[in-house]
Amino acid sequence: MLAADNPLVREYFGRIIGEDGLRILETIPEEEITDEEIAKLSETKLTSVRKILYQLYESRIAEYRTERDDNTGWITYWWRFNHQNIKRMMEEEADGELARLEKNLNYEQNGEFYRCQCQRVLFEEAAEKDFWCEECEANFEYFDNSDIVKGIEQQINELKKWKRRVKRN
Ligand SMILES: [Zn+2]
Repeated sequence: MLAADNPLVREYFGRIIGEDGLRILETIPEEEITDEEIAKLSETKLTSVRKILYQLYESRIAEYRTERDDNTGWITYWWRFNHQNIKRMMEEEADGELARLEKNLNYEQNGEFYRCQCQRVLFEEAAEKDFWCEECEANFEYFDNSDIVKGIEQQINELKKWKRRVKRN
């Protein structure tokens, strides 16, 4: 459901729960599960699992209910994901990323770029410096950024596709 192979998902959840957390996230099924079972499935220490689950709980990604055994007094924690919250968070994250990419695209499409050995500048800046970079002592040469533009367009397309998929789930 999470498509944990998606770079955006990895980055987003990686920020909250780290690589260990991602591994745990990938192993959690749709239905309720105990922390012990998660530890077994993800081959992670129970203490680490609990720490990560608590972080997920604080981010409102995971929820739990407790069940008390009347005979032993033992309390079991049943965990499950809040799929609605995850969906909403991922959509917000995707929208933020899309806005950033579109701003970038706009910048790349509207500028004319020049490059020396050490940096890439807009035409205006290169002209101002007589097409000579004092820092690396080289000429500013015209730079064709169509590959960069293509790359950003591709990222935008993939992100939009992914967003539609998240919505459908
Ligand atoms: Zn330079």
